[in-house]
Amino acid sequence: MRDLLPKDQRVWEKLRAVTRELGEAYGFERIDTPLVEASALFERGMGETSDVVEKQMFSLKAKDESALTLRPEFTAPVVRAYIQHGMSHLPQPVKVYYIGSLYRHEQPQEGRYREFYQNGFEILGGESDPIYDAQMIMVAYRFLEEMKIQKLSVQLNSIGCKQCRPLYRKKLVDYYKGKPACRTCKRRLLINPLRVLDCKEKECELIKKGAPSMIDSLCVLCRGHFKLVLEYLDEVKVPYILNAQLVRGLDYYNRTVFEIVTEGSDMALGGGGRYDYLMELLGGKSAPAVGFALGLDRIALMIDRQGIATEERKAKKAFFVNIGDLAKKKGLGLIESLRRAGVRVEESLGKESLKGQLATADKRGADIALIFGQMEAFEESIIIRDLKTGAQETVLLIKMVDAVKRKLHINE
Ligand code: AMP
Repeated sequence: MRDLLPKDQRVWEKLRAVTRELGEAYGFERIDTPLVEASALFERGMGETSDVVEKQMFSLKAKDESALTLRPEFTAPVVRAYIQHGMSHLPQPVKVYYIGSLYRHEQPQEGRYREFYQNGFEILGGESDPIYDAQMIMVAYRFLEEMKIQKLSVQLNSIGCKQCRPLYRKKLVDYYKGKPACRTCKRRLLINPLRVLDCKEKECELIKKGAPSMIDSLCVLCRGHFKLVLEYLDEVKVPYILNAQLVRGLDYYNRTVFEIVTEGSDMALGGGGRYDYLMELLGGKSAPAVGFALGLDRIALMIDRQGIATEERKAKKAFFVNIGDLAKKKGLGLIESLRRAGVRVEESLGKESLKGQLATADKRGADIALIFGQMEAFEESIIIRDLKTGAQETVLLIKMVDAVKRKLHINE
């Protein structure tokens, strides 16, 4: 887990702002769920055999002995909230977005942390229409485009449904029979065969390449669904690559699954897919759903790696300088009147010397200094100094707010 320091915040603020803007632009409403949930929610939702549940949950016992877990993902909590609050009675589908921290006990490395951040968008209820799959992929893609990430690649697959997946699973197990796969894969073949396609071991690489493809085994309905997803994506010009080995680590997906990577890096920036069975699995009435989540830490890392400039918000600001006790006392109220009028004012009120305060104003990038000394306090005036040109003028306190706003071009 790590700190996001003030110097990191410019990019994080942009990630938050673009999440909000896209949410509003595409008609999604914000949802926040608790940091801690009953462990059973994730065990049921993500599947007992998923890597996250098997190895990565930060679990704790509460005083009343209930088993709790720091959320390792958002989808199950969002579905829980949908069921718990009777959101199936709202106009369908319900479209929500979120942003927040997640916890997984992984081996930390660059781009993989134990506390990390995601934003995500989910469409719950309504019809299991491929147009929503395409819309989700498009919104994820637009977010990354908006963040100016280069060389994006959308990887796409379909993992079928309850009808066609068991047949494919059997084909896959038959194919692996007698092949020298790694120990983990041998175990996976017994409990969750599709996961062998996720294997990163060298010894499995070649075996994986020759494995039968799910797309060839899709039933008519799943095939039709997938074909339409591709057509809709073509329509909005979102490029994609079919990747028969993409199954995603979590158990609850059906049909469309996708991941977005940048070319030349195997680090996924995010992914998602359809999960029509999760609602029922978590005790709700059966309802379709589709969504995605993006890894914000990795996007921030990519912005740094690709040297993408995130423009600084150029709001101009004033720096309040006070000299002497009387000025200090009166100064507090003056600063408040400026702030109320929408002026950004910084100060270092604890510093005594004019020089020290002006040096701080300079370091903080202020545009003007408002100098308020003993004499000004008596005369009810203040000096406005332009820190770029050094030019200064004295104005009466009653005219200060207007003069400062004019100088900083506020509300013009
Ligand atoms: P998942 O919830 O596993 O589908 O992950 C979605 C995205 O979250 C991934 O593509 C990553 O970008 C990001 N992510 C997942 N786990 C981590 C982690 N431990 N540290 C940083 N980012 C992560």
